[in-house]
Amino acid sequence: MRELFSDEASSTSKDTSVLSPSNSKEKSEKLDVKSLTKEELIAYCAKRGWPRFRANQLFQWLYQKGVNKFEVMTNLPKKMREYLQEHAIINRIIPSMQQQSKDGTIKFLFQLNDREDNNKIEAVLIPDFFPDGAANRLTVCVSSQVGCVFGCQFCATGKMGFFRNLSHGEIVDQVQYINEIALEKYGKKITNIVYMGMGEPLHNYTSVTQSAAIISDPLSIELSPKRITVSTVGLTKQIKKLATEQQPFNLAISLHAAIDDKRDKIMPINNSMNLVELKKAVQYYYQAAERAITYEYLLFDEFNDSIQDADALASIVGWAPSKVNIIMYNNVAGVALNRAREDRLDLFLNRLSKHKIRATVRRSRGDDIDAGCGQLAIQEGAPRGKSIA
Ligand code: SF4
Repeated sequence: MRELFSDEASSTSKDTSVLSPSNSKEKSEKLDVKSLTKEELIAYCAKRGWPRFRANQLFQWLYQKGVNKFEVMTNLPKKMREYLQEHAIINRIIPSMQQQSKDGTIKFLFQLNDREDNNKIEAVLIPDFFPDGAANRLTVCVSSQVGCVFGCQFCATGKMGFFRNLSHGEIVDQVQYINEIALEKYGKKITNIVYMGMGEPLHNYTSVTQSAAIISDPLSIELSPKRITVSTVGLTKQIKKLATEQQPFNLAISLHAAIDDKRDKIMPINNSMNLVELKKAVQYYYQAAERAITYEYLLFDEFNDSIQDADALASIVGWAPSKVNIIMYNNVAGVALNRAREDRLDLFLNRLSKHKIRATVRRSRGDDIDAGCGQLAIQEGAPRGKSIA
């Protein structure tokens, strides 16, 4: 259990060999340049006598243009390209399936570059439209892990168990690829990113924060950190770490039940990090980061949609300035919980408004394409990995 609750799961294949001449990986294997952060890439170039602006150009090719060959990097000197071709590789995830819903939601399945394990991940593009049909918000929901260890009862990914963390490059690849699709299809780049796909983002803290930094870099996709939201089931240590490090992204907490007994039943993490612990972390976060928190609350029929549940949720909203998103659940095969009925939703919202809480209701998107994360991967026959459930 110790590793499950450590700062992060331990299987990211990050290589910092460039900073350590004695590391044998750089000597024996070609280095994946996308395993390096921007600072590490600058150090890698400096070590070979290439100035900083060359590192920036390389970074731009990797993360803005999304190329996977050094030979197309025509503004780099020939000798630099030849060196890179001989000593380095560019690892990139491979799009393997795409499904479009009637409501415009597009779900993507990607094959990771570790074919022997057949690992696949999913990401979703969720468009919102103006009344005239033009695209308004283009939100990408990205995955941060292959599977997930936390085993939430309602979640298709939780049923897979955990296989491995994604590297920051694999996370940025999802965004970069979908951004190209958005530009092609809607003539504009993506507007928002949510880390709410497969995996628990704060269980892969380093890759997630590094990928978000790359995505907001002016030499990459250049999305404002204010438009990037990282979600968590409530990993209290990492919530505090986000605040201490002044990470500039938004925080969303997947709450889904506001009473410990109920949360215990659907989210095993609550057994070790309950609402008392979560309250401490949230209040620490707000004090240090001074940023409002968003609570995500899946409304399940006759489970967490009573007046008492609304009162408990209102009390949690009082911990620190925060917003509430009520999400109408996409039913998942094999899960006993169901989407709440509209009449119960209305009662729940009325009760919240008596507490002066305005909640946004998020209708499920992509019902017809199994847009709940993990559903495609499960259909593809993934075996079961580690789980705390
Ligand atoms: S809801 Fe999130 S944390 Fe829970 S099992 Fe699914 S992916 Fe993991």
